[in-house]
Amino acid sequence: MSILLTTLNARYTHASLGLRYLLANMGELQEQTRLQEFVIGAKTTEIVERILAYSPKIVGFGIYIWNVEESTKVIAMLKRVAPHVIVVLGGPEVSYESNEQEIVKISDYLITGWGDVTFPKLCGEILNGPKPLMKTHAGVQPPMADIKLPYSLYTDDDIKNRTLYVEASRGCPFKCEFCLSALDKTAWPFALDAFLAEMESLHARGARLFKFVDRTFNLNIKTSLKIMQFFLDKLEANPDDPVYAHFELVPDHLPDALKEGISKFPHGALQFEIGIQSFNPAVQTLVSRKQDNQKAADNIRWLTEQSHAHMHVDLIAGLPGETVESFAEGFNKLWALNPHEIQFGILKRLRGTPIIRHTQEYGLVFDPYAPYTILANRDIDFATMQRLVRFARYWDLVANSGRFTNTLPVLLGDTAFEHFMAFSDWLYANTDATHRIALERLVAMVGKYLQERGMDKAEADALLASDYAGPKTKVVETPAPKRQARRLAA
Ligand code: SF4
Repeated sequence: MSILLTTLNARYTHASLGLRYLLANMGELQEQTRLQEFVIGAKTTEIVERILAYSPKIVGFGIYIWNVEESTKVIAMLKRVAPHVIVVLGGPEVSYESNEQEIVKISDYLITGWGDVTFPKLCGEILNGPKPLMKTHAGVQPPMADIKLPYSLYTDDDIKNRTLYVEASRGCPFKCEFCLSALDKTAWPFALDAFLAEMESLHARGARLFKFVDRTFNLNIKTSLKIMQFFLDKLEANPDDPVYAHFELVPDHLPDALKEGISKFPHGALQFEIGIQSFNPAVQTLVSRKQDNQKAADNIRWLTEQSHAHMHVDLIAGLPGETVESFAEGFNKLWALNPHEIQFGILKRLRGTPIIRHTQEYGLVFDPYAPYTILANRDIDFATMQRLVRFARYWDLVANSGRFTNTLPVLLGDTAFEHFMAFSDWLYANTDATHRIALERLVAMVGKYLQERGMDKAEADALLASDYAGPKTKVVETPAPKRQARRLAA
């Protein structure tokens, strides 16, 4: 065995689509290539030991924002105990501003951008000569038809136990400056019939949850409709063994034909991730995000009221020009539209993204370590930003968890942001914890807070008990890695 493809996934359930693409496109080197995934948090020595158990000549690492630090440690150790092993890097985290990165310095080769044809070519040169002279190789983007689809490489175990990521297109035509996909400038579709044939065979093998990583599923409505029809046909043929599909949508583009298709899906079969990011027109202009806010709001309202889709809508705090007040306004506006989940993200400076052009004027200060979260800006100081970070975490625990369905509206009252911020500040002051709050303790704390705000104990207990007893509305776990870690939802 000559070549090992590896990466550290954020969770076991996240099967790496990127590695499977590389394996599918290895050509004559495929037989001597293996794939081994790890999960962040695993012991470095164990990862290195398991990599070396393959006796590889080349190890290709997929580097992402969530694994760059641990991968750096793995490669440092690997190169110490087995300096003869050639390390090739690829992935979004090392595709831009790579020269300054420690992980690049300690590795042998780097492929930036698309690896589908450049990785096998580079491996061939390393194994058979002539030895590549350059360390960094700009990935060649082949015609989409030349890329072999990787879906047959999902094993039966992947199909049974993991999220299956699929893509009908790559790239995005929009240019939101905080998002890596902005650098694509366009989108490239895969041949639809070939793609659907692969989906057919995954379904026949038992796949039931398909997570589309296309940046904007509703870009080409004809294609969207055909893909949705594929799932509708499956649902009709197998109502007792339903299929689930997850798509990322741009919010202001939902023509009637698409609405008609969406409305045919039964409860929970469709999951939409919708990027609003900011409702503030001045901020949108600053970050080159084109969005018709009225249309976006109307469409979210339509989806809530007229479809059975589960909706997860993204907002980002910390964008240049966004004050706490303007963010609160957008949050309250979104909350009033009643999506199932609001993903409250904090701005991150993804390598290569043009958002840095605002650094000076808007005083953007980012953590120098991954995931490069914003720490302060001209309008939000460090302490306030930390309050927002805690808000986001508690919002996940209380609102997005679906554990407090009946209690949440009482907690939020008529101004969701302000009331939840007050709760968040109180919870932090009284627990000093953000991540590890056991559910029982959280319930007790919510009850205590309600009482401190004047609610009768019996009433608070009954309200919280109704959440324990009642049905949970937020039944669908979002299976993706954090979107801004990978890129941002459209
Ligand atoms: S945020 Fe969404 S619409 Fe904007 S560039 Fe990124 S993927 Fe495209």
